[in-house]
Amino acid sequence: MAYVGELGTGSTLYLESQDSQTIITIVATSPGQQQQASHSFSTGHWTTSPKLFRSLQGHIIQLETAQGSHLLLVQSHQIRPIETMPPRQTLESIPLQQIVQTPIPSMPSMQPLQPLTMGNMVMSMQPMQMSMGKMHLSMGTAATVTQTPQNNFCSQCGAAVAAMDKFCANCGHRLS
Ligand SMILES: [Zn+2]
Repeated sequence: MAYVGELGTGSTLYLESQDSQTIITIVATSPGQQQQASHSFSTGHWTTSPKLFRSLQGHIIQLETAQGSHLLLVQSHQIRPIETMPPRQTLESIPLQQIVQTPIPSMPSMQPLQPLTMGNMVMSMQPMQMSMGKMHLSMGTAATVTQTPQNNFCSQCGAAVAAMDKFCANCGHRLS
């Protein structure tokens, strides 16, 4: 048997009877995060449905069990038993909804890792270029292997000749 009630301000109270234990779980949900606190009290088996009230001090859980009546005061995330019920006129009844079982929300650290969303991020593969005055730096382009011209020299006159030249342009010496 489990019950759920809204404490307001984003907090939800879960009540669950397990054997002679009453498990009270408060789940506080705020944008971006969820806090959960569970408390266990040895109250005995419930003999009737629990009741939830809003009092001046906090929320009050009224349990009727085989061991008698139990009052639990919920203040923020602390729960402690109290002896006497505050005056009825200061209490506001909060409806409890019966649920099959307490949906124990997974703790944030227990959540499976979500795949990283890349969103609209686009990796730019374009070559990055940077110019500083006469200095020109280009990155990302294929490394340019400088083809140094084969500077041959004419064995006859010593003039520079191209590697493909068959004859020296200066003296007409046949190049091998
Ligand atoms: Zn020559």
